[in-house]
Amino acid sequence: MRYGIIADIHGNLEALEVVLRDLSGKVDQIICLGDIIGYGPNPNECCEILRNKKIPSVMGNHEKAVLGELPLEWFNPNAAEAVRWTKKEILPDNLEYIRGLPLTFEYPEFQIVHGSLINPVEEYLENLFDAIPTFELMTKPVLFVGHTHRPLHLNYKEKKIINPGSVGQPRDGDPRPAYLIYDSEKKKADLYRVNYDIESVQQKMKIAGLPTFLIERLSFGR
Ligand code: ZN
Repeated sequence: MRYGIIADIHGNLEALEVVLRDLSGKVDQIICLGDIIGYGPNPNECCEILRNKKIPSVMGNHEKAVLGELPLEWFNPNAAEAVRWTKKEILPDNLEYIRGLPLTFEYPEFQIVHGSLINPVEEYLENLFDAIPTFELMTKPVLFVGHTHRPLHLNYKEKKIINPGSVGQPRDGDPRPAYLIYDSEKKKADLYRVNYDIESVQQKMKIAGLPTFLIERLSFGR
C-alpha cells in the first residue's frame, strides 16, 4: 500500500488543494494527523474536503480547543485568538465531525497520533530524547506524528517515528506545504514540498481579521 500522510492543515484551503492535487493518483489512501483547523481562514472547507474524500484523521490540539476541551490558556495569544475565531466560524456539522475524531488510530503497518502516545494532542516530539517514552508504547514499527510543523525522522530499536511536516503552516524555514508518501511494502517514506498561492490565503486572513503575526509567518515558514 502507498499512503499519503498529511498533517497540520490549519484551515489553509489553498495549501490543502495543492497537496491533494499533487498526491492524486500516487497513493492508495490519504491519512491526516490532525489540526485540520485553526490559524487559517477556511476551517469549514478543509473539514468538508476531508469528509467528502473520506480522508481519515486523528484529533489535534486545535480541534480539542474548538470543542472546548483544551483551555485557551494552553495557547499563545495569537493562537488563542485564532481558536476563538475558528470557534465562531465552524459550522455545527463540522463540529460534530471533529467531535468524532479519534486520538490515535492503528493501521496494519503503523499507528498515527497528532502529538505523542504519552499525550496525544499536547506533547511535541522534537528529538529522540523526548520520543523515547512514546517509542516504548508503540505497538507497530512505525508511528506518524504531526504537531511540530517540522519534518522529522527518528529511529530507535528498529522502530521509527516520522513527522511529515505541515500542509498549512510549515515552521521549518520552508514556506512550501509538505507531505509524505509512505510505501508500506518497501518501508520507505519520501517527503515532498509543493508551491502554492500564499498571497491569496494571506489576503483572506487579513479580511477575516486574523492576527498579523499568523499572516506574516506563512511567507517565511517560521
Ligand atoms: Zn498544528
